[in-house]
Formats: sequence, C-alpha cells, structure tokens
Amino acid sequence: MSEKLVSLVTGASRGIGRAIAIELARRGHVVLVNYHARQDAADAVVAEIHRAGGHAISVQGDVSRTEDRRKLVERAVEFGGRLDVLVNNAGITSPGRHDLLDATEQNWDQVLGTNLKGPFFLAQLAARRMVEFVRAGTIPSGKIINISSISAYAMSTDRADYCIAKAGMAAVTALLADRLALENIQVFEVCPGIIATDMTAPVREKYDTRLAEGLVPLRRWGQPEDVARVVGAIVADSLPYCTGERINVDGGFHIRRL
Ligand code: NAP
Repeated sequence: MSEKLVSLVTGASRGIGRAIAIELARRGHVVLVNYHARQDAADAVVAEIHRAGGHAISVQGDVSRTEDRRKLVERAVEFGGRLDVLVNNAGITSPGRHDLLDATEQNWDQVLGTNLKGPFFLAQLAARRMVEFVRAGTIPSGKIINISSISAYAMSTDRADYCIAKAGMAAVTALLADRLALENIQVFEVCPGIIATDMTAPVREKYDTRLAEGLVPLRRWGQPEDVARVVGAIVADSLPYCTGERINVDGGFHIRRL
C-alpha cells in the first residue's frame, strides 16, 4: 500500500476532523482516523470511507498523552508504510466556560495540553518520521496542517485557556514551517470561523442570531466540509510556494469593519 499517501488526522471521529478524513480518503489517501472516546463515531467514519472504496483505520488516542502520540504516529506508519500528512485537528473547548476571573489551573492544563502541547509534540514526532522518509526518498514531501481558530485573535473572556492555546498555534506553525522548509515539509495554520459541529451546538441559537445580524460577511454557518476543502487544496499541492501561512476559513469574519 506504500504508493498511497498516508494521512494522520486527529479528532477525526466527529465534526471538522471527520470531514477532513473523508476528504483525504476521497483524494486517495490512506487515513488514520484518530478518536478519543467515541469509538462508534470513528468506526462509522472508517465504514463510510470503506464504502467509497478508500482505506482507513480508527485508532484511539488522547493527543495530550505522550504515549498515545507515539502510538498514533507508529500506527499510521505501520498501516500505510509511510507518513505524508499530519492534520492536528483534535481540540476541546474550555470546560464550563468560566469567566476569566474564575478560570482554573485544572482547565488550563487540560485545554493547553490538548490544544497546544499535544499538537506541538505530535508534530515533532510526525516531522521526525517525515524527515526520514523524505531523505530516504520514500515520500517526496510532507505537510503539517494545524487547525487553529478565529479565537487565536478574537477574544472570549469566558474561554481564556482556549484563546491562549489557539494563539500559540500561530507560533507553533511558524516555528515548524521555518525549521522544516529545507526538509521539504510545508506547514499551515487553518483558522475556521463559526462551524456547525458538536462543539458549537450549545451556542447554536446565539450564533444563529449573530450571523443573521451580520457578524460574518458571508452570513452563514461554516460547515465542516468548508474546512475540509481547504485542507484538500493544501494536500493537492495547490499552494506550492507557501509555508507558515494562516488560512482563514471564516466567511470573512477576520475582516476589520466599521
Ligand atoms: P468536535 O465536534 O467537538 O469534535 C472534536 C473531535 O476531537 C472529536 O473527534 C473528539 O473525539 C476529538 N478529541 C477531543 N479531545 C481529544 C483528545 N484529547 N485526543 C484526541 N482526540 C480528541 O470539534 P470540532 O468543532 O470539529 O473542532 C475541531 C477542531 O476545530 C478543534 O481544534 C477546534 O478547536 C477547532 N475549531 C472549531 C470551530 C467550530 O466552530 N466548531 C471553530 C474554530 C476552530 P471523540 O469523538 O472520541 O470525543
């Protein structure tokens, strides 16, 4: 199976990660569908990929845990014989959404561990393997795609830990892009806006209203597939002279307006 590109997508059982896994499989990639707790959901993604003629496996793993990160990279290489793409998508919102003045160290550790430390050290592991594969001629190039958020710069005072973690993704992306450029590995930060997934289900009504009022120029919810199509463009080598780039997938939310 080693002629097919191999992609590892974290948090691919639901939402944005699910759509990315399906998009990459549609493009012929062998996909490792990582999940944390919802094996049923991950297996359903794998079954959908198989029905369409693709190749995928589901693998449990908590990206905040060192051993699990090792397992994910090794299982991807075992399954597909190489590693071409890492999509750092898994993420959690701030548990309980406490006001900044009530924010806890426990939540900080959980959110930063999952949304920032985990992706950084997973990228480090994946990059080491990609460098070996590129130097050996097993793969022509590698790609690391970090799913960040508009919360990297648009502050919510009831989710300080989440905003800080996503802001850190910009530095993670720039550092990796600089270090890995000569290894023929491109690194991107993708910033989704307000996307209809389980994560935003609890605030759906609030954003229905705010979207109708014009919060986002394109005036609609983003869909997971909107993000997946951008990841598809990156892996299709449609951005060959870019690295360290932030790509907004937000219906124009990032535009400063009067
Ligand atoms: P979601 O619907 O809540 O899905 C989260 C996914 O991450 C699930 O597959 C979940 O696995 C997995 N996951 C959670 N904790 C994990 C861990 N410790 N290790 C491995 N996997 C873990 O979330 P989403 O809305 O698709 O968000 C995906 C990414 O996009 C996140 O990084 C999020 O911050 C970012 N984002 C989302 C939005 C939005 O509006 N939805 C906007 C901007 C950025 P299980 O199914 O096993 O629980």
